[in-house]
Amino acid sequence: MTAAETSLKNFQTDIDKWMAENVPKNPGFLLPLTFLEVGTEQQLDFLREWQHKLWSAGFLGMHWPTEYGGQGADPAYQGIVDKALSAHNAPIIFNTIGLNWTGPLLLDVGTEEDRARYIKNILTGEEIWCQGFSEPDHGSDLGNVQTRAVRDGDEYVVNGSKVWTTLGNYADHMILLARTDTSTARKYDGLSFFLAPMKVDGVEARPIRKVTGEFGFNETFFTDARIPASCLLGDEGGGWRMAMKTLEYERGVVAGQASAHMSQSITLEDLMESMHDFERDGAPILEDAMIRDELVKFAIEAKANSISDRRAAIPALNTDYPFGIALSNKYRHTEYARRLKMMGAHVQGAQGALFMDDDQSYKGGFWQRAYFANFGTTIGGGTTQIQANIIGEHVLGLPKS
Ligand SMILES: Cc1cc2nc3c(=O)[nH]c(=O)nc-3n(C[C@H](O)[C@H](O)[C@H](O)COP(=O)(O)OP(=O)(O)OC[C@H]3O[C@@H](n4cnc5c(N)ncnc54)[C@H](O)[C@@H]3O)c2cc1C
Repeated sequence: MTAAETSLKNFQTDIDKWMAENVPKNPGFLLPLTFLEVGTEQQLDFLREWQHKLWSAGFLGMHWPTEYGGQGADPAYQGIVDKALSAHNAPIIFNTIGLNWTGPLLLDVGTEEDRARYIKNILTGEEIWCQGFSEPDHGSDLGNVQTRAVRDGDEYVVNGSKVWTTLGNYADHMILLARTDTSTARKYDGLSFFLAPMKVDGVEARPIRKVTGEFGFNETFFTDARIPASCLLGDEGGGWRMAMKTLEYERGVVAGQASAHMSQSITLEDLMESMHDFERDGAPILEDAMIRDELVKFAIEAKANSISDRRAAIPALNTDYPFGIALSNKYRHTEYARRLKMMGAHVQGAQGALFMDDDQSYKGGFWQRAYFANFGTTIGGGTTQIQANIIGEHVLGLPKS
């Protein structure tokens, strides 16, 4: 074993011990399954404290520079932390838009001042970030963003509305895509990208209730909101390039995450475990040939996904832009998870119709909640259909649909 391998192995042992001692067990209230459903102050306070604890122990931003609060280690260390978080069923790391989109973007294209100003507070959870890309009628069609930002001296005046703003009501800052020029020949050239403050006059985030009954995202309104001109990231009119870069992080095409533990992982083993509680026609449901057939298909798909993930880590297989293997990652994993959770509800038979608020529901409606919450991942950051279009057109070279 090389010295580097020994060091990684020792780190794995240390972190397992730390997790066993420090992962909070039962807070006594419902925690969100993904970062998309942080909907109460109680959840927020708990998750902020947990993120801070993890960072203080030296387990967040493993490969980010030490001068901004990272650990300055090899990226492999972050992978080990994330696996341990998942294996110990740890609460999610909630400040995902900061940790996984904004932070890597600033490390990539931000100024020294931006990095020094924002990155450490992202890691500690002290400052929360949200993302203002989607607008009513302009989600997939992001190039049509209508929110206006008009320069006025040392400020921009922002007017318009954004929708599905995850964590918007708690956020200190937003990565905001807004139109600064309406006269360009191409709509993409009139957009600019801002690191915008949320706690200023004229910004209001109104929570939206989701299908699970939980909150987590908002509609955000800008009414003559004044933000400093220094919030502009990159050049005025260069926002589209920044937005596309951000989406590369969001869709997992480019690594850089300070932690990928943004949702509770629910596995095929969890599904099989639950099946021990159900019968069909008087026999354990696991003896049903149709069910077994489905489980085998899931097992094959899980194996294929894991092999494909490993291919994505081999540089020689990832030289072709636009990174075919990585691009299919979001599509494959989110759809797999959605079908797995649907099966979890399906095997309950009539009981599967009961939800979280019903005493008779199985495990407090866990599978139903997980199934509905999963749509956040198949829609957010580009829907499954859009992701399939990108892969079809840009990776496989098929004609435009
Ligand atoms: C839980 C959750 C959290 C989110 N958080 C944020 C956030 O924090 N910040 C933010 O900016 N946005 C956020 N979003 C918004 C998300 O990015 C958009 O919902 C998504 O991009 C789809 O846009 P849309 O809702 O306008 O749907 P539309 O674009 O109107 O699409 C509706 C349907 O039409 C299909 N469709 C559209 N165009 C095509 C096409 N060309 N080919 C094939 N099918 C097509 C879509 O796949 C979809 O099924 C979030 C969404 C969810 C669900």
